[in-house]
This record gives sequence, C-alpha cells and structure tokens, in this order.
Amino acid sequence: MKEPLKLRAHHGMCLAFFEGKGYSSAFTENMEKVLEEMEEDTPLELCREKDIICRACPNLEKGVCITGEKVKAYDEKVLKACGLQPGSRLTWQEFSNAVKHNIIEAGKRKDICGDCSWTEICSRREQAENGCASTPE
Ligand code: SF4
Repeated sequence: MKEPLKLRAHHGMCLAFFEGKGYSSAFTENMEKVLEEMEEDTPLELCREKDIICRACPNLEKGVCITGEKVKAYDEKVLKACGLQPGSRLTWQEFSNAVKHNIIEAGKRKDICGDCSWTEICSRREQAENGCASTPE
C-alpha cells in the first residue's frame, strides 16, 4: 500500500476550484502534479500543517505558513463541516465528494475562506458554474 500524502484540509477546497491558472507557475505546476498523484488513488492523510501543496508556495517560510492562524482556521472549519479529524485517511475521491457535498453545494465556501487572498479565483469559478458569471460579490 502506498504511503499516504499529507493534505491540509482546506486544500480540498483550493483543489476543488483549481483551473490550472491564477497562481505563480511553480505553484500551479505543483497543484497539477498533486492532483495527478491523488487521482491515482494514493491515500490521503488530512492535516493542519505544511503539506504537499505548501511545498511550492511562496508563503512557506522555514517550513511554516506566514498566514498561519488564518489558514489553520480554514482547516478546522473544513474538517468540522465534513465530520473529519486531523489524521483521517481517505481517498481524494472520498474527500473531494465530502467537500463538494458538505461545503460547496451547501453554500458554505465564503463562510470558510471568504477572506482568503485568492477568493476571487474560487468565486469566479463558482459563479460560472452556477450560470451567473457577472454577479458581484
Ligand atoms: S498560503 Fe500557507 S497554507 Fe496555503 S499553500 Fe501557501 S503555505 Fe500552504
């Protein structure tokens, strides 16, 4: 059995809205690699600290995210909304379904990470999927 990939819980949301652009090229390339790896059914272990997405992020300094408490709060909210714990092991398919059902379709995205500096990316995507691409925030 493959070693599980560590994934911060709130990255389930960043990945759900990922469209291959909007971030630096190194960060985007890493996101694509991670998605490919996860789609091969590599198990995930959910966490609230540095993970496989953070490794290519300019906000990671000496192994710690400079937006520390803010993103930890996102992790906590995602775990709670999905009924999961740090250390929960599941496949990407299971986790992305949980995020989709419990957060995105339940209309909770903005409550969880509406103050993220990249919220525009997810908001645009959400509006496009709901068929109202020009609706203001
Ligand atoms: S902002 Fe922080 S939590 Fe998000 S990818 Fe960068 S280092 Fe990780």
